[in-house]
Amino acid sequence: MIKKFTKKEKEQLAKQVIVYYDKQSRSLPWRDNPTPYYVWVSEIMLQQTRVKTVIDYFNRFIAAFPTIADLAEANEDILLKQWEGLGYYSRARNLQKAAKIIVEKWEGCLPQEKDDLITLPGIGDYTAGAISSIAYGKDEVAVDGNFIRVASRLLAFNGNVWNAEGKHLISDFWKSVLPKNQASAFNQGVMDIGATICLPNGEPHCKCCPISKYCQSFQQGNPLHYPVKKRKKKRTIQKKTVLLLYWNNQVMIRKRPKKGLLGGLLEFPMIDGYVNKDEVITWLKKRGYEVIRIKKGEQSKHIFSHIEWHMTSWEVEVNSFTVSERIDNAEQWVERGRISEITLPTAFKVFRKRVECGK
Ligand code: SF4
Repeated sequence: MIKKFTKKEKEQLAKQVIVYYDKQSRSLPWRDNPTPYYVWVSEIMLQQTRVKTVIDYFNRFIAAFPTIADLAEANEDILLKQWEGLGYYSRARNLQKAAKIIVEKWEGCLPQEKDDLITLPGIGDYTAGAISSIAYGKDEVAVDGNFIRVASRLLAFNGNVWNAEGKHLISDFWKSVLPKNQASAFNQGVMDIGATICLPNGEPHCKCCPISKYCQSFQQGNPLHYPVKKRKKKRTIQKKTVLLLYWNNQVMIRKRPKKGLLGGLLEFPMIDGYVNKDEVITWLKKRGYEVIRIKKGEQSKHIFSHIEWHMTSWEVEVNSFTVSERIDNAEQWVERGRISEITLPTAFKVFRKRVECGK
C-alpha cells in the first residue's frame, strides 16, 4: 500500500521543489539560454552521459552547428567527430535526421506539443516532455531516472518501477503534483534534487532535502531500499583480435556494417575471437596481404550496455605490392600522423594511441 498524498500536501510538495529550484538551480549553458534547440541537444547528450562531461561537448556542438538548419546540413563525418567520445552515435545521427524533418516540416523550429515532438527520430516520452515544458512552458512532466528514484522514495513504493505498470504509476503521481504554468521550474527542480541530493549511487542527503517532510522512505529510515532493484542481465563477453595493419607509414581503418553495434562507424580491422600469430598471418594471406613483420600489441576492454569486448591486438607490417591491389571501398589507409582526425569509437582508444605514438 503506498502513501496517498492529499491535494494540499501535493501543492506544498510542488512549492518546495520550485522554491528550491529558484534558489539553488545549477547554472548550465542550456539553462542560461533555454532555447528549444539547446534544450533538445542537451537532453539528447545527457542520456547516458554525466552533466560535467556534457558541458564541453554541448558548447563545441553549438559552436559547430549554431542552428537546427546548420545541423540538418552538416557533413556526417564532421557531425560524428563532434560526438566522438560521447558514445551511442545513433543519438547524433537521430539528431540530424530530426533536424532535417524540422527544417522541411516545421520551418526550422522544434514543435511545441509533446505529441508532435515524439514523432521525431530519437525523441521519446521523456525528451518530448522536457522540451515541451522547459523550452515552451507547457504543462508536461519529464519523467527520467531522477523522477523515478525520487518518487519511489517519496512513496516508499515497493513495486517494480521499471515495468509499464510501475512507470505509469510514477508518471501519474508526478502529473498529479505538477503545478499549473510552472512545469519548467518544477521539472528541473525534481531533476536537480535527484541529481544532487537524492543520489542514484550512495547515501541520499536527506538532511538537506527540501521535500524530506513528505518522504515516506526517509520517515521509515530506509531510502536506499528504493527503487527496488531490478535484476541485472549479465553482459555477453565477446573476444576480439584487433589488427593494426601498417603500410608505408599508414594504418588501415575500415567501415563497420551499417546495421548493428557501432553501425557504419570506422574501426581497425578485427577478427572474432583471440587468434595467434600463425592464424593472423593465414587470415591476412587469404586476403592478399604478405606479412613483413608482426608483433603482439596492446590489450583492452570496452563495456557497452549489454556486451563487453575483450580485445587483444597484433601490430603487422604488410607488403606494399599486395596492399595496392587489395584496397576496397570499406577499407582505407590513413597516415599515422592523421589518425587523430578520424572519428573512431572510444572502444579503440588504446589502439589509436598506439598508432599515434608507437613504433
Ligand atoms: S528525503 Fe531523502 S530519500 Fe526522500 S526524497 Fe529527499 S533525499 Fe530522497
